[in-house]
Amino acid sequence: MTQVFLGMPHTGGWRTEVEQPEDTLRWGPTFPEGAHKTLANTQMRRNLGHATRTIRSKRAQRVAEMPDWEDLRNAAEAVKFEVASRLPELLEQFEANVTARGGIVHWARDAAEANRIITDIIASKGVDDIVKVKSMATQETNLNEYLADRGITAHETDLAEMIVQLADDMPSHIVVPAIHRNRSEVRGIFLDRMEDAPADLSDDPKELTAAARSHLRNKFLHASVAVSGTNMGVAETGTVSIFESEGNGRMCLTLPDTLITLMGIEKLVPRFQDVEIFSQLLPRSATGERMNPYTSMWTGVTEGDGPKEFHLVLMDNGRTKTLADPVGRQALACIRCGSCMNICPVYQHTGGHAYGSVYPGPIGSIITPQLTQGLADDDPVHTLPFASSLCGACGEVCPVKIDIPTILVHLRARSVDVKRRMVPDVWDVAMNVSAPVMSKSSLWEAASQTVKASALLGGKDGKIGALPFPASLWTGARDLPVAPSETFRQWWRRTHPEGETPLSQVAGAQTGRGHADGFPADPPPSPDKPVSGSASADGEPTPAALDARSAINNPEPIAPETSAPQAPAGSTSEEEL
Ligand code: SF4
Repeated sequence: MTQVFLGMPHTGGWRTEVEQPEDTLRWGPTFPEGAHKTLANTQMRRNLGHATRTIRSKRAQRVAEMPDWEDLRNAAEAVKFEVASRLPELLEQFEANVTARGGIVHWARDAAEANRIITDIIASKGVDDIVKVKSMATQETNLNEYLADRGITAHETDLAEMIVQLADDMPSHIVVPAIHRNRSEVRGIFLDRMEDAPADLSDDPKELTAAARSHLRNKFLHASVAVSGTNMGVAETGTVSIFESEGNGRMCLTLPDTLITLMGIEKLVPRFQDVEIFSQLLPRSATGERMNPYTSMWTGVTEGDGPKEFHLVLMDNGRTKTLADPVGRQALACIRCGSCMNICPVYQHTGGHAYGSVYPGPIGSIITPQLTQGLADDDPVHTLPFASSLCGACGEVCPVKIDIPTILVHLRARSVDVKRRMVPDVWDVAMNVSAPVMSKSSLWEAASQTVKASALLGGKDGKIGALPFPASLWTGARDLPVAPSETFRQWWRRTHPEGETPLSQVAGAQTGRGHADGFPADPPPSPDKPVSGSASADGEPTPAALDARSAINNPEPIAPETSAPQAPAGSTSEEEL
């Protein structure tokens, strides 16, 4: 029988699900609507699950080998706190130093002003083609679209950004913008959209990278203007830096005659020495590398070396409003490492596009509503702080110790406060009615007695079925068990007549002798030995109490159930997610 080799399909079946938005900070519907759509994309979820697992595992290894990781995090937190406290003064110092070294500093109040400044500089050079280094700031201002509308083509040179740009897609991760694509899809995008892609291109990562390299080399060699963002600006020297892995940044920052850098005003560190802290935290957190392969730093312009003209655009775009919030301002400390996304169970399932902002994941949920001040009910971004289970994993991995869960709760409260000025809804009424009862323990106890009457509504299985509105909001989709015959307070009083947990019971729980439901085993009453006290008559701890404390302070190690490799010491519980 003759066999015909059909080869690989021409494209990898890629399809872009989102449209190019005008406002890249709020392009989508609400988060629940966005998530509903992305959850149906099983291919995207597979790609995302694989990629985030890989990055988490690499990060955990690199963090585990750093004995001073927590010290570094504390130091980074302190530096960023100092920046937030001295921002105006540091910005002026930074501007003075950049100018003194031959750079030209521009100030932009918002995205529109930043785009206008950058476009005017490019137009003044008489070019309609520029190269770009990956930059979240230019994503935030939607610079590429703005330039395209004025006849200027911006070529993204970071591999993942290039994939997103070729596919007319939107980024879904701040470090790995094409994390939702697999290599088969990338092959399809290259074949369909990259004019000089080899016709026999396979989905081998080496071949894909080689095709991208040859495509980009041509752009680098012909560009006379480059646009970049920055990872850090150093106030005391006027130095600007880019940390990257591919070398495309180095090419953009050194070959063109004119370099334009867009920088959010929060991206400062006060001293050059502070770079040491972030240069250890950032690569390990972002890509699981000990050190990123390319770190470029430049200060103004240098005769005969690199660009002849350097423009720095310092952009506010909602940052001073964020700074005005004493809780929310912590979000400005973000160094855009992406760790909080890689560990977030919500992000891992919904993907970045569900957030409808170029800043997805936990950091997106706290920075987007603050930059846009979109906390009102009719603004889709007001739903972002609710896109979290508040498990706390994001705060644990954040290299600058941003307390993301607290900010999420704070922004939820702000959103509710904004809403309070409008017509109250059913929740407002319910909360207002129940607040006096919940604030007084005697009223609460009396009210909880009436809940027992729910047993009358329950079936044989102890569950309450469909109820009329407004209870149907709950029972329409969930089981509602009937209340137990005994309230927690009644149980506590019955089992703890002395009002406190006997230490012997706590010790029993620690050594696994408690009930299967987690409560300590009830010890037999002993007429000659008090069970609730931890001290003898002379005030010294009893031997039993000492044993109990020792058990609490030194719990027996729990043997692993399987021989699977354990997470390195010091790592978080990332592998379990
Ligand atoms: S909030 Fe923290 S973990 Fe998340 S991207 Fe920013 S620095 Fe990284």
